[in-house]
Amino acid sequence: MTTPDVAHRLDELKKLMAKYSYEYYVLDAPSVSDAVYDGLMRELKSIEEQHPSLITPDSPTQRVGGQAIEGFQKVRHSTRMLSLNDVFNQEDVEAWVKRTEKLAPGSIHEYSAELKMDGLACALIYEDGKFRQAITRGDGLVGEDVTENVRTIKSVPLALRRDKKTEQFLHGRTEIRGEIIMLKKDFEALNKKREDQGLPTFANPRNLAAGTIRQLDPRLVAERPLQFRAYDLLRENGDEVPSYAFAYATIRELGIICNPESEVFTNLDDVMAFVKHWEEKRHELPFNTDGLVIKINDRKLYTELGVVGKNPRGAVAYKYPAEEATTVVKDILISIGRTGAATPVAVFDPVVVAGTTVQHASLHNADEIERKDIRVGDSVVIYKAGDIIPQVEHVILELRPKNATRFHMENELKRQFPELQFDRPAGEAVYRVKGATSKLLLKQALAHFASRGALDIDGLGEKNVEALVDAKLVHDLADIYTLTKDQVLGLDRFAEVSANKLVDAIQEKKNPPFSRFLFGLGIRHVGAQTAIDLANNFKRLDSLGTASLKDLRDVEGIGDIVAESILLWFDEEENQQLLAKFRKLGVWPEEVKSTGGSLAGKSFVVTGTLETMGRDDAAEKIRALGGTFQSSVRKETDYLVVGKNVGASKLAKADKLGTRRLTETEFLKLIDSN
Ligand code: NAD
Repeated sequence: MTTPDVAHRLDELKKLMAKYSYEYYVLDAPSVSDAVYDGLMRELKSIEEQHPSLITPDSPTQRVGGQAIEGFQKVRHSTRMLSLNDVFNQEDVEAWVKRTEKLAPGSIHEYSAELKMDGLACALIYEDGKFRQAITRGDGLVGEDVTENVRTIKSVPLALRRDKKTEQFLHGRTEIRGEIIMLKKDFEALNKKREDQGLPTFANPRNLAAGTIRQLDPRLVAERPLQFRAYDLLRENGDEVPSYAFAYATIRELGIICNPESEVFTNLDDVMAFVKHWEEKRHELPFNTDGLVIKINDRKLYTELGVVGKNPRGAVAYKYPAEEATTVVKDILISIGRTGAATPVAVFDPVVVAGTTVQHASLHNADEIERKDIRVGDSVVIYKAGDIIPQVEHVILELRPKNATRFHMENELKRQFPELQFDRPAGEAVYRVKGATSKLLLKQALAHFASRGALDIDGLGEKNVEALVDAKLVHDLADIYTLTKDQVLGLDRFAEVSANKLVDAIQEKKNPPFSRFLFGLGIRHVGAQTAIDLANNFKRLDSLGTASLKDLRDVEGIGDIVAESILLWFDEEENQQLLAKFRKLGVWPEEVKSTGGSLAGKSFVVTGTLETMGRDDAAEKIRALGGTFQSSVRKETDYLVVGKNVGASKLAKADKLGTRRLTETEFLKLIDSN
């Protein structure tokens, strides 16, 4: 995107997110799921990271989302109520720890990990042990005085519990922060009641809790079973609360329900085990949680680390994988299946949905695209149907670019497959290759697989292919390796010698050169030369099969269309099954052995900016010396060349995989000495 395009996109995102925030925080009636909001937030953050000059104070990354509504008195918080930075995986957590350690070397000894309750943040203020005021988070600086409503929550004591341990907190101002929530069972009962009364129901317990606490009539609030769970204790003199663990123990002593699941850990592995435990068990909790909060337990350090934008540096919110996500449709390709059916497939910017990276989704047929009005360039919400297959849920129309044109299946078929003809049988939603049957297509595929440029199998010409398929001895490409002499002899065309010869010729080609095998698979747009380029670059079929769109595009001569087509082929279940069958039969292409070149057999990733050359030059040098250039660090990567301005996550990943780091100087030495 050009800079004006980026600025425009940022503007559109901010506008839409302001609308969503208003619906969520002020009206307590969100029109989209949190995952959708979080997805847009991620895009916005990544744009801002790349273009820091475009960050404005009104960006949702800079301000806490809520605002005080009319009808309640507005009250300024003694200390800002903050939001939290999201993290989504172990790498993100490690990167956060590294960042933090850089600011305070050697000072992190303990983490407090705790459930993140999905409710409405509220501060309870006690003066000399007596409940005096309750304030919502609002915009973090100014909240709403909801004292009368909070008084109706039975678990909020009007006086703090007194004993020897708590005595000091009964003098002066004690602020207890926490979340107002509603238990799942209470939410369901209330919604059911509203449904019976013909009243609109609430979207989720969080919004019901938030909507309830901001009712102007406390009697109505009293009718709804709200709960308060604390997660913080503030005193004027911060030294009185040395750690989060101390805060929680004290809150409990004071007679207030504390976040029930919080533990202190001394290392990240244990924190991650806790994260994993709750990822599996969270649905059994009586309230909703959208993740965990991981905090530096030492409060002095936590405070010293300070705040960036609206988030403290000393804590992160670990969000569990969402079942929905947002992404952009880069292209709509058509894939021809074994029966000749043409299926449109959307190719996306990669995005994580329910824990796995999704790069495309079937759009099923032209009617479905029409119904959902999906266009190239659209921002879409995707989800995993039955937890496995990604689907487009809907288009976010507000973010549609002006030049997004309607998808026209017939035109696209003509454009993408000028050599083929299609028809749409009456009453069917699917276009098919005219006259094609699965038998015909298999014959074509097999003849190609066995042809001179591909596996070059002696005796497996068109006529023999036809005979084998017609006799139902072969149902896919891999089946030829199961043929026995007796089976072949059973066909009219064969005698003892020729049958033997054919079976032997097939068996001889169990480990063909990678490029020939790849060409033989008949992946659309992968001709003989492209197959050679890919084989030389990826060396092994497994590496090609797990390559990302970016890895593929990084290969010289491979453009978007070819890259997308390869990605699509490897992602198709049918093709994965075929590869598994080949493997089981011991049929697998040889690994490309690098011939010559001092970097032969070594793979490199370059990250950050190099001072002496561009990335492309570095890639060229590596390739010229027989090495492999990759776009991202993988298990088999040997070296990570680290330039300037490097993202922490790349380094963290490389360290985890044990990839050797090279400075630019070391890299130059390596290529110069060779
Ligand atoms: P956040 O996710 O950044 O987390 C901060 C809040 O977590 C704190 O204010 C506190 O209230 C709460 N919390 C719960 N347990 C805690 C614990 N143990 N320790 C510390 N804090 C704890 O909250 P946010 O700033 O309100 O962020 C945005 C959230 O609201 C996102 O999940 C987003 O999806 C959602 N949202 C949704 C929409 C929508 O339209 N669906 C719109 C705006 C925001």
